Amino acid sequence: MNLASNVVQTPSPTRRRVLFVDHAAVMGGAELSLLDLAIAYRDTSRVLLFDQGPFRERLEGANVPVQVIAAPASLLSVKASGGLSALKAMPGLGWMARRIVEQSRDVDLIHANSQKAFVAAALARLMGAPPVVWHLRDILTAGHFSAMNRRLAIALANAQASQVMVNSQATGEAFVAAGGRPNLVHLVYNGLSAQPFDAVSEEQAIALRQELGLGADVPIIGSFSRLSYWKGQHVLLEAVRSLPEVQVLLVGKSLFGEDEYVAQLQDLAASPELAGRVHWIGFRTDIPALMKACSIVAHTSTEPEPFGRVIVEGQLAQRPVIATAAGGAVELVEDGVTGRLVPPKDAIALRQAIQDILEHPQQTADLAQRGYDHAKATFSLESLLTNFDHALSLI
Ligand code: UDP
Repeated sequence: MNLASNVVQTPSPTRRRVLFVDHAAVMGGAELSLLDLAIAYRDTSRVLLFDQGPFRERLEGANVPVQVIAAPASLLSVKASGGLSALKAMPGLGWMARRIVEQSRDVDLIHANSQKAFVAAALARLMGAPPVVWHLRDILTAGHFSAMNRRLAIALANAQASQVMVNSQATGEAFVAAGGRPNLVHLVYNGLSAQPFDAVSEEQAIALRQELGLGADVPIIGSFSRLSYWKGQHVLLEAVRSLPEVQVLLVGKSLFGEDEYVAQLQDLAASPELAGRVHWIGFRTDIPALMKACSIVAHTSTEPEPFGRVIVEGQLAQRPVIATAAGGAVELVEDGVTGRLVPPKDAIALRQAIQDILEHPQQTADLAQRGYDHAKATFSLESLLTNFDHALSLI
């Protein structure tokens, strides 16, 4: 099931003409979020990508006008956490900026969905392109971004961005703490449609368990993140080591070459206490059904999560969600009310939360119901689009 196919198409004659720019070709959370926006804006706007890949196919499948202009390898290969490599990307950035100027002649504004896209768009602005909104979906900390990359992005934002749209308060605070101008920040929480989750019946969820070779009554903890150290799948495996009745469903694959981490996870999963209990199913698009096939959705990031779509998705699936108490996650979950929060990297606290949930089915059902009501009321696609339209109207 394609989450994006359920975007509500509110007729909006006043929607701006936007060039959405993203450097990524693969489907991370930022791209899934952009997909929903681009569908809503497809009558007036289009998407420019820096690389071929599944994102282009998803956009085209949703009838969004999309163009790929392959960026120089020196730009695509530069890592956000890399130091001086940012300098090597400069010629590629200049080249990409000129392409953005050419592509943006007939739009009102440019929406940059990633840091690389923003840096190129900000340079394009210097060359005469329309106003630029940086949709910041990352927490700009040393863990993910080298000091040089942060300084460059913040300096360009302060000088060239018309708005820095942030997906949580935590993301906005980190931008300001890194030197960003507070008056640029505009909060627009992500929003998701409940419809694909509501459409999955309990019978379908049980049938999916059977397809996956899992019994109707076994406790299943699902992790729905790309395989990457900071997503903390190892913490989840540590937590269930001493819970022999629990099965783990790992949904997702490594997106940015984290093969060493995947090998470590595989070793951990093969250890005698875990052998046969960890089920790897790779990247999937049927997230609502898979979440409903789980007893618990765990989001175990070791570092502050900017937003954490998976958390809201788990709530919409009416499953108890356990998230780590850092970054945007604490804006999505009230501990013990709409989900559970545990400290990051704390396998013992995570194990305790899993046990609590499994041992108290009635309280768990109430928790999941409150999570669902909260997510539906606060993080709907309709409110996302209303807030997004409004944010763009300010420019
Ligand atoms: N996801 C997916 N297929 C997978 C694993 C994850 O579509 O196999 C989706 C997941 O449902 C969520 C997104 O990827 O919508 C991840 O977003 P999140 O904000 O949690 O993390 P990010 O990737 O942005 O760090």
